[in-house]
Amino acid sequence: MKFEDKFENLVKKTIKENSLFTKKNKILVAISGGKDSLVNTYLLKKLGYEIFAIHIDLKIGKYSEKCRNACEKICKENKIPLKIYDIKKEMGSSMCYIRNAVQSKNKGIGNCAVCGVIKKWIMNRESRKMKADVIVTGHNIDDEAQTFLLNILKGSPELSFNTGPISKNISDKKFIPRVKPLYYCLEKDIKKYSIIKKLPVVYEKCPCSGDSYRIQIRNFIEERFEKEKKNLKKSFERISKDIPKKENSKLNYCEKCGEPCRAKICKKCELVGTSLLNKK
Ligand code: SF4
Ligand SMILES: [Zn+2]
Repeated sequence: MKFEDKFENLVKKTIKENSLFTKKNKILVAISGGKDSLVNTYLLKKLGYEIFAIHIDLKIGKYSEKCRNACEKICKENKIPLKIYDIKKEMGSSMCYIRNAVQSKNKGIGNCAVCGVIKKWIMNRESRKMKADVIVTGHNIDDEAQTFLLNILKGSPELSFNTGPISKNISDKKFIPRVKPLYYCLEKDIKKYSIIKKLPVVYEKCPCSGDSYRIQIRNFIEERFEKEKKNLKKSFERISKDIPKKENSKLNYCEKCGEPCRAKICKKCELVGTSLLNKK
C-alpha cells in the first residue's frame, strides 16, 4: 500500500474508533500554518467532512505574515470558510507585546506558556461563538510523548491522564471539546505527507519558541528512534491504568471573563487581566 493511503487510513481509523466526530458535526479546525494543522485541514476536507477553520494571527513579525498567508491559501484552494482572529485588532497588541508585559510581572514564565494560555482562551471563546461542536487540533504522537515525559519529569504523571485523541473529564456547555485526528501519527510522517501533497506549510520554527523545557524534551525525543517513541506511548497506556483517575470535574466560570476554568479566575485573566481583551 502507498504511504499516503496508509497515512490516510490511520487518520480515518483514529476518527472512527474514538468517535471524534461525524459528518453531522460542525467541525472547526484550528490552523496555525504549520504542517500538522494544514494536513488536518487538507485531509478532513478530502475525507468529505464539511469543515471550517480559524487562524489566530499573533503578529509575530514576518513569521506571522507567512503563517497567515499559508492558512488563507489552503482554505481558498479547498473552499473552506476561514476566520482570521487578528490579535492586534481584537486585543490592541501583538503577542510579543502582551508576552513582554506578562513576563515583566511574572519572572521565569516562558514565551510559549504565555502564548499557549492566551491562544487556548481565544480558541474556546471564538469556537463557541461560531457554534462549533469540536475543535480539531494538530497534536501527534511526538507531542503526546513529550507531554508524557514532561509530566513524569515534573513528578506529576497524573497530569497525562487527560491526554488522548479527545479531551476527557471535562463536560461543560461552555467548553468545546478538543479532538486530535493525528494522535497516532508520527511527526516525520505528517511532514512527509505534507510534502507529497505540496501543502503550503510554513516549516520554519516560530522565532519566539526559544529554549523552553518542552523544546529541550522535544529535541531529546526527536533524536529517539521510531520504536522508542511508540514505546513511550505504550508505556503511558500501560501505567495509566494505575494512575488515579480524576472525577469528571465540574468547571467554574471565571469571575472576570466568564470563561470555563478550574479556579475562581482563569489562567488568562490571572496573567493579563481583562484590560487587553474585550469581553464580547
Ligand atoms: S512556538 Fe510558542 S510563542 Fe510561538 S506560536 Fe507557538 S506557543 Fe506561541
Ligand atoms: Zn478569565
